[in-house]
Amino acid sequence: MHLIKNKNLILNSSFVNGEWLVSDSTFEVFNPATGKAIAQISEVTSLEVENAINSAAKAFEEWKLTSYQQRSDILLKWQKLLREHSQDLARILTSEQGKPLSEAVGEILHSADYIKIYAEQAHLFIEPINQDAPLNQQAKIYRKSIGVVTAITPWNFPCSMVARKAGAALAAGCSFVLKPSELTPLSALALAKLGEQAGIPAGVFNVVVGSNAQAIGEIFTSHPKIAKFSFTGSTIVGKRLLAQCANGVKRTAMELGGNAPFIVFEDADIDEAVEGAWVAKFRNSGQTCVTANRFIIHKNIKQEFVKKLIEKIKQLKMGCGFDSENSLGPLVNQRAIDKISGLVNKAKEEGANILLGGHSFEKDDCKKGTFFEATVIDNVTPQMEIFHKEIFGPVVTLIEFKCEEEAIRLANQTESGLCAYAYTKNEKIISVLNQQLNVGMLGINTARLSNPSAPFGGVKQSGMGREGGSYGIEEYLDYQYVCIR
Ligand code: NAD
Repeated sequence: MHLIKNKNLILNSSFVNGEWLVSDSTFEVFNPATGKAIAQISEVTSLEVENAINSAAKAFEEWKLTSYQQRSDILLKWQKLLREHSQDLARILTSEQGKPLSEAVGEILHSADYIKIYAEQAHLFIEPINQDAPLNQQAKIYRKSIGVVTAITPWNFPCSMVARKAGAALAAGCSFVLKPSELTPLSALALAKLGEQAGIPAGVFNVVVGSNAQAIGEIFTSHPKIAKFSFTGSTIVGKRLLAQCANGVKRTAMELGGNAPFIVFEDADIDEAVEGAWVAKFRNSGQTCVTANRFIIHKNIKQEFVKKLIEKIKQLKMGCGFDSENSLGPLVNQRAIDKISGLVNKAKEEGANILLGGHSFEKDDCKKGTFFEATVIDNVTPQMEIFHKEIFGPVVTLIEFKCEEEAIRLANQTESGLCAYAYTKNEKIISVLNQQLNVGMLGINTARLSNPSAPFGGVKQSGMGREGGSYGIEEYLDYQYVCIR
């Protein structure tokens, strides 16, 4: 793999109870910028997945009794190692996921920030809460680690989605078994290696890698020793896993898909809005859950906004993430290209106009890479399929509005509720947006929402539960009310 100095970070098998497993059966991982296989990964067996959960259950009994300070020290070492190895980790990430190297470095550092915040905030939950109680009684409320956590993560942020869950769970005293996406398992395995070096005890952090997601998912959601199942991925898969958890009444966290509106009001600073649109749409080639999908623009400024946005988009250089000139990487695989091509073609049939792009693209130097042109589509309406689907690619859809109420109605006209963006200087409009936009996160005059201390998560079909800061740690704790006479 591309210029990775510390070859010990390149691993190709599951990590269970402090051991690296091997098997004869393997699956391949591909670089989406070239279409070439970059690793052969040992397939985990169902028995090994069960062993991982049993080991985690055993390790939990000791880990939950460690002091906050011990856990915090280990997590702080872990995040320090992530920072020290950020260049190598970023190269692994770009090799398997495709994003530009500078974005990959950003993701590694962001992951380290999450682990650091959790390490620093877990102490908030040590002291019991003294509650009012009837005469002759004392009421104390304790926060207890919930137990073994299983988690499944997606390919679009193969490092930070792991850090965001595992850091919180471990800080709270839980043990953890992870299944990363089969498209991008290498980043999670490198994280496990550094966790081992940081001193995470055997069995506390396990990673199982396999291409049969459904089979692993069934064990992850039904095993009797699991207290909580945490998922980040698409809404359709999340619903299925949520149903599987019902039988064992498992606690769940669901970080699911989005369909973010990006509203630009008449009074907005257009240049700032264009800059924000560019960030919100093209980071990771539009493959983020918080990517802006529907650009809802006031009719009086739409022409200027679109002209400036297209000028800016034309500066994007598409290509392999290892070339520092490139700012638009590939999509993850051919399935993603087919899905987006289908949505764009259908929108065209339904009456939308393609102003820019609209096609998949073959780079001369890497013919098998899965690239899709930056695309702008005008005259999109709520009657079109593309309005309601999470596009997950570099496609801007433009929708015009005339008044504030219409903008809010259009923004909320979706089953998703992860996040929204709005550009306006009007305090009254800002306060109405706060009240009326049905989302978990709202960016006003900014597209840079990321903050490891803030609660990350959505409402409606974008999921339940929050990650980040003390909110994230709380998700891995249970209350215990003790009444003493
Ligand atoms: P996906 O749902 O296809 O896959 C996510 C994970 O689930 C992968 O590890 C995959 O192997 C696994 N999986 C797939 N089918 C499964 C099954 N039947 N049983 C068990 N596991 C199964 O999603 P994706 O394409 O990897 O990721 C993109 C999606 O993730 C988008 O919808 C995006 O919005 C969402 N996402 C949400 C957040 C958030 O915080 N809300 C963050 C990142 C990504």
